[in-house]
Amino acid sequence: MGNQTNWNWDPAPESTDHVKIKEQYQLFIGGRFVKPANGEYFETVNPANEKVLAKVALADAADVDKAVKAARKAYSNVWSKMSGAERGKYIFRLARLIQERAREFAVIESLDGGKPIRESRDVDIPLVSAHFFYHAGWADKLEYAFPNKKPSPIGVVGQIIPWNFPLLMAAWKIAPALACGNTVVLKPAESTPLTALKLAEVIKDAGFPDGVVNIVTGDGGTGEAIVNHPGIDKIAFTGSTEVGKKIIRATAGTNKKLTLELGGKAANIVFEDAALDQAVDGIVEGIYFNQGHVCCAGSRLFVQEGIAEKLFRRLKHRINQLIVGDPLDKNTDIGAINSKGQLKTIQAYIKQGKKEGLEMFQPEIALPKKGYWCAPTLFFDVAQSSVLAKEEIFGPVLAIQTFRTVDEVIAKANNTPYGLSAGVWTDKGSKVFNLTSQLKAGVVWANTYNKFDPTSPFGGYKESGFGREGGVHGLEAYLNLN
Ligand code: NAD
Ligand code: MG
Repeated sequence: MGNQTNWNWDPAPESTDHVKIKEQYQLFIGGRFVKPANGEYFETVNPANEKVLAKVALADAADVDKAVKAARKAYSNVWSKMSGAERGKYIFRLARLIQERAREFAVIESLDGGKPIRESRDVDIPLVSAHFFYHAGWADKLEYAFPNKKPSPIGVVGQIIPWNFPLLMAAWKIAPALACGNTVVLKPAESTPLTALKLAEVIKDAGFPDGVVNIVTGDGGTGEAIVNHPGIDKIAFTGSTEVGKKIIRATAGTNKKLTLELGGKAANIVFEDAALDQAVDGIVEGIYFNQGHVCCAGSRLFVQEGIAEKLFRRLKHRINQLIVGDPLDKNTDIGAINSKGQLKTIQAYIKQGKKEGLEMFQPEIALPKKGYWCAPTLFFDVAQSSVLAKEEIFGPVLAIQTFRTVDEVIAKANNTPYGLSAGVWTDKGSKVFNLTSQLKAGVVWANTYNKFDPTSPFGGYKESGFGREGGVHGLEAYLNLN
């Protein structure tokens, strides 16, 4: 067992008694739950045990058309005409209801997506309500946000989101859209639709006018129907670069506005003068948070040579302590990989790393038999040309390199088609500012990692997409400014 420390934690499972998951879910269109036109449903499973949680409606183009029409009606008749202060009241009410039902949301998020309950309870769901609270506050202050301009809503917005932060991505999309006076057709990812459907119930409970938010579940085909619908004024998409490129092609030459938040391959850079234990925690947080299913994950680690050996020793020791297993257990650090498909993708990258002859480290732990699991993995001395350093893996796999000088690490860090985020660990403020101005990344964290706040804009450079979400900048994406 090497230097593994066996902490004998007793299981501490979160209770699921208070959570009601239905056998079957319908589409949320025009304020009602309606059956899909074609009568088709798909299954969403719990990736920790492969059990089916529920059957969920598969929306086709006819259903999307219905949702767009409901959104248009709500936009023209009610929502765009309402004062900002009134809109704000609804959004505040939604934020409070989410807080009240936070535990239920957190448990469903962990059941449907595999993320540890500690994260869904302490990170995802609190950020969801914070996002609605923050944007509720903007609803009646848009003129102050953009002095000398006349902000007006865009219209009906189509929003397509991924499976890594299911409810948080829904909040990032819905909250600013509504605050700015738009109405919404949102499609959650096929492996994690349940919290968005729960959100639909809460939106109904909050008394929103019918059709202001419509939630259509389905697959890529449903997403395409949203992208291609002529009644949509704007598309907001978060997901893979590949689908992002398809959406650029599909919307080219139309009047649809577009914002894209795509992949990443962030550099997390540790200098010799960094506080090492904090840096080790930040590296672990950077790559193993949410099983590495994070577009801004610190998936490339750059360590300055002088401290490399010491840092690697501490990092291995730390990784040996991580608990991989039941997402509903409050002790769990690393939950289940979101889907079988994603697990296969990650395993293929690990195989590739081994084939390249790279030194690999994984703790000696027994992974559960059922479900989709991957041990936290380190690869050392990864060449810039290796696929492990170039491609987004979207799993708990860290590609490590060393460096000598500041200029060298800046050049290496920027040598990627992506530019979403980066991390810098150093005791020197001047070094932080030098790097934040030279790293081509939308977000640069200094002596911390994966910290999010609704007031702070988030988004990428280059192939990581364009447009910002959060903060004043994020509002611009949902307004016409004349
Ligand atoms: P994806 O891009 O295929 O899916 C994202 C969303 O887009 C889903 O709701 C999906 O149903 C929808 N979609 C799929 N095809 C579409 C189409 N042609 N038109 C419109 N919508 C469509 O992502 P994925 O397959 O779930 O994950 C694959 C990779 O994407 C991951 O390995 C990772 O690299 C990346 N990813 C990035 C993020 C991020 O936050 N930036 C999140 C999830 C996944
Ligand atoms: Mg699921």
